[in-house]
Amino acid sequence: MTHRTVFTDAVVFPVHDENLDPERGYLVIDQAGTIVETGGGDYSGGTAAETVIDLGGKLVLPGFVSAHSHLWQSVFRGVADGCFTMGWIDKLHKRFGAAMAPGDMYAFTRHGQHDLLRHGVTTVCNHTHEFGGGPTEQWQAALDGAQRTVYSFSPPLWLAAAERLSDLDKFAHLISDSRDRVLGVSVNTTRIYRVEEMRRENEILRELGFGMHAHYLEDPSVAAEQQDSFADLLAGGRIGPETVLAHFIHTTPHIRDAAAARGAAMVWNPLSNGRLGSGIADIPGYRAAGLRIGMGVDGQASSDVADPFQNMRTGLYLLRAAAQQADVLDARTILRMHTLDSAAVLGVDDRVGSLEPGKAADFLVCDPPAPYGHLPARELWPFTVLSTSASDITDVYIAGRRVSGGPADRDRALETDCATRVSRLYRAV
Ligand SMILES: [Zn+2]
Repeated sequence: MTHRTVFTDAVVFPVHDENLDPERGYLVIDQAGTIVETGGGDYSGGTAAETVIDLGGKLVLPGFVSAHSHLWQSVFRGVADGCFTMGWIDKLHKRFGAAMAPGDMYAFTRHGQHDLLRHGVTTVCNHTHEFGGGPTEQWQAALDGAQRTVYSFSPPLWLAAAERLSDLDKFAHLISDSRDRVLGVSVNTTRIYRVEEMRRENEILRELGFGMHAHYLEDPSVAAEQQDSFADLLAGGRIGPETVLAHFIHTTPHIRDAAAARGAAMVWNPLSNGRLGSGIADIPGYRAAGLRIGMGVDGQASSDVADPFQNMRTGLYLLRAAAQQADVLDARTILRMHTLDSAAVLGVDDRVGSLEPGKAADFLVCDPPAPYGHLPARELWPFTVLSTSASDITDVYIAGRRVSGGPADRDRALETDCATRVSRLYRAV
């Protein structure tokens, strides 16, 4: 018999089944890190070939999924305060991108991974950038980190359509031997090309099995112009089941309904949207329209503290305050949005996003300081979403292996290396 690990006395959150509430029970994990069994109450099937880890009644949540992030930004927190997205990009990407030295992008991406892991994000869609070592260093970081990655490749935005295709080809070659080590691959489709050029590229993306990931309708100052381009995006086949639209705030009813009808998905980033003054996405309206919705903590230079609990609360509170209605979105729903729904938006919900047999044992253990043992099971949803923070995380597991001890778990060597690199960049610009 292969070796198994059993986590007992765990209060497990079943985000995948709306008929179930959190329950004290156990998780059985096989040697490959896959959940083979879950159940309520005490575990009684023990054999000598099992390691038992008693979680002491702590809360066990599926690992968070950030469906939109830029990991390298982790070392630029607090930057460009008071700027809209476009001004913020000038002060971050344009200022530092060209000055990056070999190794910077790798180190910064590792910093971002480590930071998200400490905050309970076990799967990230890293929407990469072309500068500072480009795809080579960011891909290598994805292979070296413990966190699971959906890799979003960004060809330089200034490339003509034909040059872009050859860049895509180069990237496909770069990852050909290691592609199965990430969960998925998509391509940055933010720039809009001629309709026939986009169609041609879509065929290639389909052959390669790459999805599409674009920033769209984020900064209000360019929203009207971007709304005008929607007809071209539709005609060019850029709005479909493989499309992830990050932010998607300044929609019209037509844009919202057409995106929903074509099976496209949006990613809601409440922390970043608040910090950059981008606006409040009409999540209740999108849900009513049947749009697929995921959540992201975005880059740490616009969310600053990438705490998914704070991201959920910021989202809930913005929506409730704007609608002057406290039941516009509930705690249970938003926890599912930041886990299973985000995995579905990225097309990886067959492997991650919930704690069910057949899926990866990716989870976080929380030990909040307030009492909860007396609560009816259904009250554990709001208790956890409204009152827990990343600082209450004691352990983060990926494939049943402990990879972080929460926010207090720091990588001082990596921080020192990044601090040296960032000081050099500040002197250079
Ligand atoms: Zn972004």
